[in-house]
Amino acid sequence: MEVPPPLVLKRPLYVPSKTLMGPGPSNCSQRVLEAMSNPILGQLHPECLQIMDEIKEGIKYIFQTLNDATMCISGSGHSGMEAAMSNLIEDGDVVLTGICGIWGHRAADMARRYGADVRYVEASFGRSLSLEEIKFAFHTHKPRVFFMAQGDSSTGILQGHIREIGELCRQYDCFLVVDVVASLGGTEFFMDEWKVDVAYTGSQKALGAPAGITPISFSKRALTHIRQRKTKPKVYYFDILLVGQYWGCYGMPRIYHHTISSTLLYGLREALANFCAMGLKSVVHRHKECSTRLQLGIEELGLEMFVAHESERLSTVNAIKVPFGVDWRKVAEYAMRKYNLEISGGLGPTVEHVFRIGLMGENATVEKVDMVLSILHEAIQSIKQRAP
Ligand code: PMP
Repeated sequence: MEVPPPLVLKRPLYVPSKTLMGPGPSNCSQRVLEAMSNPILGQLHPECLQIMDEIKEGIKYIFQTLNDATMCISGSGHSGMEAAMSNLIEDGDVVLTGICGIWGHRAADMARRYGADVRYVEASFGRSLSLEEIKFAFHTHKPRVFFMAQGDSSTGILQGHIREIGELCRQYDCFLVVDVVASLGGTEFFMDEWKVDVAYTGSQKALGAPAGITPISFSKRALTHIRQRKTKPKVYYFDILLVGQYWGCYGMPRIYHHTISSTLLYGLREALANFCAMGLKSVVHRHKECSTRLQLGIEELGLEMFVAHESERLSTVNAIKVPFGVDWRKVAEYAMRKYNLEISGGLGPTVEHVFRIGLMGENATVEKVDMVLSILHEAIQSIKQRAP
């Protein structure tokens, strides 16, 4: 054999324990980690299907929806975005994306690949979109699909007005896709009441499950549209009619669609059970309280939040301006080296400009807020002293 077995794989696996307070993933609870060491099940074993049914109930609760087409895509948050776009879009459809950071651009990139005629409505730097801006864009573009991220993790912006946008979409016969990957659990979200047609969230953020399995839900109206498409969705793996049949959403016999990771199901099931036991209101309240405490602490340290308006700040991912003359990388390295603490830099429009501090799931506690503030302060002071 020309290729010998690699020496690196003879060494034992080493995984350090880190406190993950960047934009995600967040740390999993012991309950979630332990659940994932259960034996593997086959993807159509009744016990596995039972767990999937329980997960569906949990997702309906956290999304506040009664949609039958509620399931998971096997993949990270991006797969939720792909599933939303590939199922809704047909060639030539006008897709309007709201831009408050990178996620609107990412959705636009995907939409274009599925044959959409993509238009943008872009918020001013550091702001969310006003309802007037959105209404004007609808009037101009008359979109078939409107995409927005409720929480843009690249900027720490919270986009409001979803209820009003839901109404607007009905007036224009448009489908509303809301990315709640970074926001769910950190702010209110009512899928049915707000007339959202597709929502998906990240398992690895406020939910506190591992990445790789994405809760998603489609409204009845979206499902009817998908059933009446002229052509099949372009990606077999994300075809919601097939995935939903595997998840037992449509009252039809289950089919094999793909081999789901039973391990990820266990983790997600336990994360959802934990979330449900605490209750949606209390989870949201805790995330908001932690973010408020962080923001006050940031002010006390003489630092500034990137998003000027308090009401437009995401509680889960907090963007803080990097002080003049400080290299954010050195600060992040200091926190990681000395405390095994992840603080992240910016992304897209905020790259080099902000620190991003995630307060999600296990890490949305008063103790963790105080810890991250103290380490951030120490790191900045240390870097400043070392600066030439
Ligand atoms: N949307 C938003 C708002 C996100 O914050 C992220 C992850 N940072 C994603 C989508 C993509 O998720 P993933 O990295 O799990 O694919």
